[in-house]
Amino acid sequence: MSIRDIPQGEEIGQIRQSVRKLCESFPPEYWRQLDRDHAYPSEFVKALSDAGYLSVLIPEEYGGSGLPLSAAAAILEEVQHAGANGAACHAQMYIMGALLRHGNEEQKQKYLPGIASGELRLQAFGVTEPTSGTDTTSIKTFARRDGDHYVVNGQKVWTSRAEHSDLMLLLARTTPKEQAAKRTDGMSVFIVDMREALKSGMTIKPIRTMMNHATTEVFFDNVRVPAENLIGEEGKGFRYILSGMNAERILIAAECIGDAKWFIEKASAYASERQVFGRPIGQNQGVQFPIARSYAQMRAAELMVHQAASLFEKGQDCGEQANMAKMLAAEASWAAAEACVQTHGGFAFAEEYDVERKFRETRLYQVAPISTNLILSYVSEHVLGMPRSY
Ligand SMILES: Cc1cc2nc3c(=O)[nH]c(=O)nc-3n(C[C@H](O)[C@H](O)[C@H](O)COP(=O)(O)OP(=O)(O)OC[C@H]3O[C@@H](n4cnc5c(N)ncnc54)[C@H](O)[C@@H]3O)c2cc1C
Repeated sequence: MSIRDIPQGEEIGQIRQSVRKLCESFPPEYWRQLDRDHAYPSEFVKALSDAGYLSVLIPEEYGGSGLPLSAAAAILEEVQHAGANGAACHAQMYIMGALLRHGNEEQKQKYLPGIASGELRLQAFGVTEPTSGTDTTSIKTFARRDGDHYVVNGQKVWTSRAEHSDLMLLLARTTPKEQAAKRTDGMSVFIVDMREALKSGMTIKPIRTMMNHATTEVFFDNVRVPAENLIGEEGKGFRYILSGMNAERILIAAECIGDAKWFIEKASAYASERQVFGRPIGQNQGVQFPIARSYAQMRAAELMVHQAASLFEKGQDCGEQANMAKMLAAEASWAAAEACVQTHGGFAFAEEYDVERKFRETRLYQVAPISTNLILSYVSEHVLGMPRSY
């Protein structure tokens, strides 16, 4: 069922059901094969796009369904809950926010309808660099104004889905850090048409990772980007990126909740059916308790995700809740993954149980898109008023 067939007002419940149904067409063997080949789930992403799920946050006037963030969170949660992997396409949902909030009308008309229909893929987000890491204000990629173009030189790392995207949202310096009034000034955001850039100085190099995640290094060698592709004002890009981060945190947290649910259901079912010493292993409290504990952690994190999404939708500040939701949900999914592995014993390591694959996949979310330490620094400084630590 496409999102367009779902009656208004019944969205979230029905969306959950129909996403579950869509995911049934992509059984575990589909994901195992991709994992073996480190291949991108093009058919799955196309099915989600065609059914309108990746464009729920795009306003109706640009061809999307204009739903609130909680609808997007429900979609990603269900994808993960079904054993699938939304990392192949989740970024479109939160990257697009920069264009929506800070782009001009011409840019929105030019890109959003294509993104909504699935014709244009905006999946690549170029922020992290090898020498700056978490310290985003120290990025070195530079965009120099040259007439009606910017000329981009530099390198990004961990630019996921770059090989499977038509457009990239790029953060680059337009004023060197030393010359900027504040370290957060002097960075700008661009929409880079990668189909053009690949013909003129942009190179993409895949990075093989411990899980199947289409991530890459991207090199810019005098890549010319039309000045009309600058989003908002030159020099204010860091603020635009920051303004999208709460949505990103909430959506990733929802994915972790979905992962946790998958692990908990898998572990409970196996614990109830696997007989050792003549009785189900789940009859032993030593087997039950880690699963039950991770369930309690997941439920608590889920409440935080809902609270963060609700504040976000009311337009209220939700930095504290979005950050904590991301951290708690990533920890809950990891606790559930651990319990699931331990419950399955040796069989956790067999590919056909899917536990080892999901275990590798869910570990990422304590590191990316923001690591736990940086969330704790945020809470320490911005919520508890302690001194800035970096
Ligand atoms: C699979 C994958 C996909 C990714 N996709 C994207 C993407 O699409 N686009 C993109 O731009 N980026 C992407 N990233 C990058 C990701 O956001 C970064 O890896 C992450 O922000 C951490 O940066 P880093 O790896 O450079 O670690 P570093 O900054 O080098 O940090 C290493 C460790 O030190 C800790 N640390 C650093 N400074 C401090 C401090 N002051 N206090 C306490 N602890 C500290 C960190 O928490 C971390 O644990 C991806 C990463 C991965 C692994």
